Amino acid sequence: MMNKWEGIVLRSIPYGETNKIVTLFTREAGKLTAMARGAKKPASRLAAITQQFTHGSFLIRKGKGMGTLEQGEQLDSMRFIREDLEATAYASYIVELIDRLSDDNERVGGVYGLLHDALHAINEQYDPEAIALFVEWKMLPVAGIHPIVHQCANCGATEGEFAFSFKEIGFLCHRCFHVDRYLIRITPNQLKLIRTFSTVPIHRIGNLTLKKTTKDFMKKIVRTIYDEQVGIRLKSRSFLDQLESTPELLPKKKKPDEKVT
Ligand SMILES: [Zn+2]
Repeated sequence: MMNKWEGIVLRSIPYGETNKIVTLFTREAGKLTAMARGAKKPASRLAAITQQFTHGSFLIRKGKGMGTLEQGEQLDSMRFIREDLEATAYASYIVELIDRLSDDNERVGGVYGLLHDALHAINEQYDPEAIALFVEWKMLPVAGIHPIVHQCANCGATEGEFAFSFKEIGFLCHRCFHVDRYLIRITPNQLKLIRTFSTVPIHRIGNLTLKKTTKDFMKKIVRTIYDEQVGIRLKSRSFLDQLESTPELLPKKKKPDEKVT
């Protein structure tokens, strides 16, 4: 049976002398793995289409076991992601996170759209750190975590002063601060931003220019949740941590003038 599916290459590993095993995230069928025969040869018509981050249309023959990638048509090579070190690092982190949290042939609503929009935003040179951060927040429900951000996680109140609680994974109002002695006090702006990250679509995040301190705060919260509740450690994160601790190594880039939050 042949299927034509739109997808993005999450991973591509060499197999044998000339082949590659490609992991795709497709719009129609979720994550799947396919053998790309001959794709390791530079002259192969499958060579370009099987590169990581490529957005394309893939013709896949399904058999009993792993499918075979017969043909592909490139929709976007994601050239900027491939050429820019910082963009590569954040895009690698995004595809690894989505790969780890997805099972083969299981369709989870919204994940393909998130992956597609995030990589295209990075390729269009939006702040890759903010985009990756957004993907981390958006993938929490896929990892089984549903932060309570529209009301107090303990009493349901929507008015008052709020703090973030890792114990409740959500907000606590000032009347319920006693529930968690390790809560993190947050400003009304930080509360708004956590809500924004949890609820709005990605194109609205792409337009925000976030201050470094804001990103660090948002990152600390979401990564603590991943470390403590989800328990996954991504390989691409160590490179990212290195990059973030030595920003002077990155070439200076001009940023589009946008709203600062
Ligand atoms: Zn409360």
